[in-house]
Amino acid sequence: MNITQIFGSNVFNESVMRDRLPRDVFNEVMEVKEHGGQISMRIADIVATAMKDWAVEKGATHYTHWFQPLTGATAEKHDSFITYPVEGKTLLQLTGKQLIMGESDASSFPSGGLRATSYARGYTAWDMTSPAFVKEMSCGNILCIPTIFVSYNGEALDTKTPLLHAMEALSEQTLRIVRLFGNTKATKASAFVGAEQEYFLVDREKYLKRRDLIYCGRTLFGAPAPKGQELEDQYFGVIRERVGAFMKDLNEELWKLGITATTQHNEAAPAQHEMAPIYCVANVAVDQNQLAMETMKRVATHHGLVCLLHEKPFAGVNGSGKHNNWSIGVDTGENLLSPGSHPADNLQFQLVLSCILKAVDTHAGLLRQSACNVGNDLRLGAQEAPPAIISVFLGDELDAVIDNIVNGTSTSENTRIRLDSGVSTVPVLTKDGSDRNRTTPFAFTSNKFEFRMVGSSDSIAPANTVLNTIVAEAFCDAADQLEQAEDFETACRELIRTNFAEHQRIIFNGDGYSEEWVQEAARRGLPNIPSTVDAIPMLCTPESIALFEKFHIFTEAELHSRCDVLYEGYSKGINIEAQTMLHMASKHYIPAVINYVTELATSLNQVKAACPVADTSVQEQLLCQVSSLLTEASNARAHLEQVTAETNAMTDVAAMAHAFRNQVVPAMTALRSPIDQLELLVNKDYWPVPTYGDLMFEV
Ligand code: ADP
Ligand code: MG
Repeated sequence: MNITQIFGSNVFNESVMRDRLPRDVFNEVMEVKEHGGQISMRIADIVATAMKDWAVEKGATHYTHWFQPLTGATAEKHDSFITYPVEGKTLLQLTGKQLIMGESDASSFPSGGLRATSYARGYTAWDMTSPAFVKEMSCGNILCIPTIFVSYNGEALDTKTPLLHAMEALSEQTLRIVRLFGNTKATKASAFVGAEQEYFLVDREKYLKRRDLIYCGRTLFGAPAPKGQELEDQYFGVIRERVGAFMKDLNEELWKLGITATTQHNEAAPAQHEMAPIYCVANVAVDQNQLAMETMKRVATHHGLVCLLHEKPFAGVNGSGKHNNWSIGVDTGENLLSPGSHPADNLQFQLVLSCILKAVDTHAGLLRQSACNVGNDLRLGAQEAPPAIISVFLGDELDAVIDNIVNGTSTSENTRIRLDSGVSTVPVLTKDGSDRNRTTPFAFTSNKFEFRMVGSSDSIAPANTVLNTIVAEAFCDAADQLEQAEDFETACRELIRTNFAEHQRIIFNGDGYSEEWVQEAARRGLPNIPSTVDAIPMLCTPESIALFEKFHIFTEAELHSRCDVLYEGYSKGINIEAQTMLHMASKHYIPAVINYVTELATSLNQVKAACPVADTSVQEQLLCQVSSLLTEASNARAHLEQVTAETNAMTDVAAMAHAFRNQVVPAMTALRSPIDQLELLVNKDYWPVPTYGDLMFEV
């Protein structure tokens, strides 16, 4: 395999356009892509034809507007290129209009009441900033045109539209900041994102024997295997042959799609792995992450595997997340989050950092909300992922800089020291500015922030929409103030000091998994929002509404509708899990245990008949123990059925979501407990589904 030959081979990228489009058309497309504006229909027609010709050469038969509705996933409807046959012959066609815009029935996508069901029109519109690509699927090769998705009245029905608005807002406000520091050349600022993606792989045959994996993507029952992750032998361990073959294919498929899959390794839990691409512009990173998830699932099936993207497929071992690495760059090449070798003297960096701290502290609840979903509730705060409390880790070097600024003390010299291992044949290293802290949700890592809360199955669009918007607001506040200042440097230093002093409480360098931090965070007044249902309303606080309206990201109506969509999504997610548990308990576990109890009783009677004085205490004890857990399971099943039915009868979306969390989730736990205990007692031949050991260690 020659990477350079296959990389991007299925992408209608800049170099393909340069080769295939007339110069003036290419220039106009580039101009609009970089700086916004409208392309004319003449240009659109030329681009569409070139795109279609290129795609057909790649074997494409259909095109689709590829969009990201509020389901968290992607959506596509394929249209073939063929036209009405004339004299029995058809031509292949993609018009400019078809490229730019699509009209579809939006009524089956979540809209949270934005659109009455009778008004069903939705429109998809070409997002020129993310390149079109050909996806090779079993149903054919499909030309995918990334689009946004809006209602007839222009309200956003997707996760992309607000992200693009937020990127524009960030660009505009960032330019105001760099202008203050004398950069007159920059014309655009961008958020850059690299999303590390964690996932599990399990054997497909075994997967198909578990309804919980099929319907919910996670196990709802399962006793711990004798071995978990305690030996820490999986993390960065040697990759198993079958998994390695999967990774090789995955890389090839991702590279064809222009996704820079770069790192691959085993993660902490058995059967858990990670892939990370090289970072790129935020909206492209969002698209590529969606494509990466889809490709992982597809490639896994070719290897008799299933890729689990759920945040917590197995209780008792680590779940999966998605570290969202984020930075801001300007088109003159500068990364605003790069502290340089002397952060203590880097005023622009200090201002940027102080604004980010202000943004995160002011909107901590909103940032937390951006990473909430049903699965992530099982992960955040579970001593393996960041806690549900937002805090920022900066490391010793920057902390010292901030302390000095706040306290007016003098700055000490750069503390970066050399690391000498003492082994004479090993080079002496220069240490990073800070150590790592893996227990923090928002960590500064050299020249970027790493937001670690996002769940592995989730889109990274909402998190980046929030990040870009809250930082745009802090930049805007700073620019409003500093543009008026008579003495810029003094005013700037004063603003930096104020921002740091007022928002220093958000910095925490200690153990984010500890109980002390929970107490300390409460003392500092930082929000601790452990569950999705409590995080959702953060989207609709007066502060959030004002923020999003100010930067034209969302209208108030759009925000309320999104809250409703999220509440509904939560309720539906838990309901599916509850129904699956009822199904598995009734159809699999309880009948299996009854069979086993019957077998035990029969053999007990046989032994007694054959030898009345034989010691049958083991059988009797087991029979009693299993029978009593069977009763507990049966009662818990009945209770779960009842509370689920009662909860489903509710009408208010928020109240219903709360009832699912407060009534149904505990009833699910109560059913799981006896079944998991039974798993450890019942003869394996009777157990109806593969166990944790089977799933995690036999890949
Ligand atoms: P770490 O080991 O600290 O997690 P890596 O270098 O492995 O850092 O990077 C992890 C992810 O962060 C990768 O996807 C990488 O491309 C991305 N990344 C690196 N630099 C930046 C940056 N300036 N902005 C955004 N993402 C970045
Ligand atoms: Mg990382």
